[in-house]
Amino acid sequence: MANGDNNSDTELVYLPLGGSGEIGMNCYLYGVGEGVRRQWLMVDLGITFPGPMEPGVDVIFPDIRFIEEERQNLVAIVLTHAHEDHFGAVIDLAPRLDVPIYATPFTATLLKLKAMQFGMENELQINEVELGSRLDLKPFAVEFVTMAHSIPEPNALVIRTEAGVVLHSGDWKIDHTPIAGPAINLERIREVGNEGVDVLICDSTNAVSEGRSPSEADVAKTLSQLFKEAKRRIAVTTFASNVARIRSVIDAARDSGREIVAVGRAMRRIIEVARDTGYLDPAITFVGEDDFGYLPRDKVVLLCTGSQGEARAAMARIARDEHPNVTLNAGDTVIFSSRTIPGNERAVNLVQNRLVDMGLDLITDRDARVHVSGHPRRDELAEYYQAAKPRSLVPMHGEAMHLKAQIEWAQQCGIGEGLMVRNGEMARLLPGPLTIIDEVPSGRLFRDGHLIISSEDKSVRDRRKLSHVGAVYVSAVLTRKGRLIAEPHIVLSGVPEETLAAEDMDEIIYESVVGVINSIPKPRRKNKELLEEAIRRGVRSTVREVWGKKTECRVSLTFIDPRDI
Ligand SMILES: [Zn+2]
Ligand SMILES: [Zn+2]
Repeated sequence: MANGDNNSDTELVYLPLGGSGEIGMNCYLYGVGEGVRRQWLMVDLGITFPGPMEPGVDVIFPDIRFIEEERQNLVAIVLTHAHEDHFGAVIDLAPRLDVPIYATPFTATLLKLKAMQFGMENELQINEVELGSRLDLKPFAVEFVTMAHSIPEPNALVIRTEAGVVLHSGDWKIDHTPIAGPAINLERIREVGNEGVDVLICDSTNAVSEGRSPSEADVAKTLSQLFKEAKRRIAVTTFASNVARIRSVIDAARDSGREIVAVGRAMRRIIEVARDTGYLDPAITFVGEDDFGYLPRDKVVLLCTGSQGEARAAMARIARDEHPNVTLNAGDTVIFSSRTIPGNERAVNLVQNRLVDMGLDLITDRDARVHVSGHPRRDELAEYYQAAKPRSLVPMHGEAMHLKAQIEWAQQCGIGEGLMVRNGEMARLLPGPLTIIDEVPSGRLFRDGHLIISSEDKSVRDRRKLSHVGAVYVSAVLTRKGRLIAEPHIVLSGVPEETLAAEDMDEIIYESVVGVINSIPKPRRKNKELLEEAIRRGVRSTVREVWGKKTECRVSLTFIDPRDI
């Protein structure tokens, strides 16, 4: 049933709703059967973070309306691992789908905790499965294979169907010394490869990078060295989910005779979960934040949240000297054991500059190997291809350039067939050749305050526009014959108050409004829409002349008969 020797006419399709053409918001669908009888399996349901193009938006989800409508044909959601870009949307979106969710213990435990935090524990059917499990989710048989990454329990999925076998790589790297959890089970991938893999759907994040990613053990060595050299306090910030990194910090602290203080709720929660699931020795003790003040400066390591510059996380609060229990002073060392996610550069720089201003020694991945990527570079991809021996390849988890780079690399490595499939495109994987056969509605949903809105909702576009050009609001009251009863009311929002000639902007706009009204013959002024439009144009052109930018303008006119008053 693989390597092209299956005779089944059954069709297997692949449909990414997020994650293909971006790093984030992973959500992939596999479908078996044809047309309305097609049964679906969802792999991952993650989020991405907003940038300057989405002002005010808290979090971004994939638009899942296609599968929402098809939910009676959705058999399950399988989660590969507990990174936010793979499981961050489950709490908000899975209730709409109402299907069982499967995850290995670390992921399932974190998800259950999160569900409890939001009072959603009864809304989600979370099923915990052991590492290496096989699930029968008819018409799919799914096998979990343990990979290495930057979080415990990253899984590849072998998806077996009547049409053939797909290997969904999940996020992975080849790390034989991963510090936390088992090393990558490349042997199992090899066995699966020997049985026959038709299509490999593969992580593309580092497909443009030559060589191999260094190991977590290399980071552990660097940290240990840095801890020995530091004379005073040390603070390390990293992704809370990176349990291997937490263990490296613990080991380095022990070797340099220091106590550890975990600072930040997310950090303490992960430590809890890692203990419960066997990734941290429960015997390891942490000192409470309250006792931080009693520890000698050369005997302490802080393990902090906030590696992405998040304003409310521990590192940013320490940098603003606003943390209730923890302060750092000149001569202390701060290590950013992390990579800055694109979009977060400004926030991270802000925090790091504050720390430098405080006289702290700042160490980032630019200075020393204090971070390694959790994704495969080219030599690792080649080794994986050799193990899995797929007949064809579809790249995922990457921006356009990463996807393209992997297709080209796979070709150089001897995989004959490859296809770029973007979010919303339905590709037939089997029977081959790989072909795009359809397109479905896809896109993004925004969590905006308490609401989840479509990215097509006008509000966010308006906000973006207002953030660049501001707005002028004009209201005026006229008689039915078109005479102004009182002075028009003008409100500026985000528009400069004075012109270059030091004239008041609202004065100039006021004159423009009155000028437009007077320029229109009285009988025509009765036409409300015509007059409002004329004022709007007049204001925009006046503002453009003095400011050089086209502001937004809203006009609201009221006509009354003075005899009615
Ligand atoms: Zn990941
Ligand atoms: Zn990922």
